Amino acid sequence: MHALFAAFVSVCVSFSALAQGGPAAAPMIHPEKLKQIAPSVWIIPDESRPMVPNVGFVVGQTGVLVVDTGMGDMNGAIVAGVARKLAPDLRVYIVTTHFHPEHDLGANGFPRGARMIDGSTMLRATTQEQDIAEFGLSLAKTFSERSPAAALLLKDAKYRDADIEFENDRTLDLGGVRAYIFAAGPNHTRGDTAVWVETEQVLFAGDIVMKPQPALASPYSTIGHWLSTLDSLAQLRPRTIVPSHGPTGGVELIEGYKTYFNELQRRAAAEKKAGKSEDEAVTAVTAAMAERYPDKNRLAGAVRAAYAEAP
Ligand SMILES: [Zn+2]
Repeated sequence: MHALFAAFVSVCVSFSALAQGGPAAAPMIHPEKLKQIAPSVWIIPDESRPMVPNVGFVVGQTGVLVVDTGMGDMNGAIVAGVARKLAPDLRVYIVTTHFHPEHDLGANGFPRGARMIDGSTMLRATTQEQDIAEFGLSLAKTFSERSPAAALLLKDAKYRDADIEFENDRTLDLGGVRAYIFAAGPNHTRGDTAVWVETEQVLFAGDIVMKPQPALASPYSTIGHWLSTLDSLAQLRPRTIVPSHGPTGGVELIEGYKTYFNELQRRAAAEKKAGKSEDEAVTAVTAAMAERYPDKNRLAGAVRAAYAEAP
């Protein structure tokens, strides 16, 4: 604990130095932004800052579930502190929407003691374990190159081992409120994991449903599966969707992604049918859609997937 505190202080000092040195704000979780969005659900919004996730808390009478950790142990310790404040003396569970650094690599900042008060329990879907085994810290390396602050946060980062691994889903009884945690990939990643709080109709959707354009970030990602996932999520009839990035919303977020993917599929299939190459399809579909969907990298990745999947 003393070592952790020393690390915390040294990182704080480094960050104030960084803050003076440049305009790029460090990708820190801002605990003062914590807000309640349903009787048992709180979030710390990301304010759409890069390398920062929306962090969720589902608070029952016996336990609190944290959804996504922030990037690096220091952010994890901040999030753990908020969980402890929301739920003093309760068991702390952690689940991450996928294995990317800002969602998962803060888990080691949570306390690890054996007793309930100073311990925490991490859950992972088997598919997320597979992502970690196959891709490891490759994205953490990329993120580290983006800014000195990111590099500092990710220095010596490693994945925390799961205390509970589940195949498809797991229901957590938090005392008066239950969280249904389920593997939903491959969409953004193979290990995409969502959380459904049925009593309050809140869905933590990870990167599966957001306002920003979707990223097919894994070689296992397919638009076909992603569309079927969107249909399943729509059937839950969520009142509130908390994506892992960007503003919270309702079912219109699901509709937005369906519209995007349907148009991509239709256009890419038409190009393929007309005998165009994949690169030609990327050029043509991007030209048709980029005005409405400005992230051309994500657009190109999605066109390539749609082209490969088209008959
Ligand atoms: Zn991601």
